[in-house]
Amino acid sequence: MSSNLINNTLDACRTAIAVFKDRRRNRVARRDFWALGTDECMGLLEDIGMSPSEFDDAMHLPYAAKDFLTLAMRSVGIDPDNFHTLEFAHDQFMSRTCITCPHRRRCHSHLEAFDFESHYREFCPNKDNFSRLLRQRMRSLDGRKPS
Ligand code: SF4
Repeated sequence: MSSNLINNTLDACRTAIAVFKDRRRNRVARRDFWALGTDECMGLLEDIGMSPSEFDDAMHLPYAAKDFLTLAMRSVGIDPDNFHTLEFAHDQFMSRTCITCPHRRRCHSHLEAFDFESHYREFCPNKDNFSRLLRQRMRSLDGRKPS
């Protein structure tokens, strides 16, 4: 067997294992979420603008158990804990957009490679929201400069 074929086979095995582990994490996350109790879960879902069936469908997406919104914000230079960021993200349903995002695998690859900030404009459904948050941040920094 050529070394290329061996390497390709090993890569395929690693990918299959990673997918299997990811699905298991997602199943555990979904189970833990619903273990909080129906009332609390319904309140949390309502807060981010999702129905229970949308949430369950989203739990089958790649890396469903991971919070990409916080990582993505940090990557593009937005403070995810800032009051205005939290308010804006809530009003624009940014969490919902992330949880249901069809590009989670690509997002994960770029976050892992630390190059999300150079590529997210090509695919991220939250890109316009990030731009608005960055513009707000620039305006608030300009407002602080002495004239
Ligand atoms: S690509 Fe954007 S919307 Fe999709 S998961 Fe990543 S940060 Fe969220």
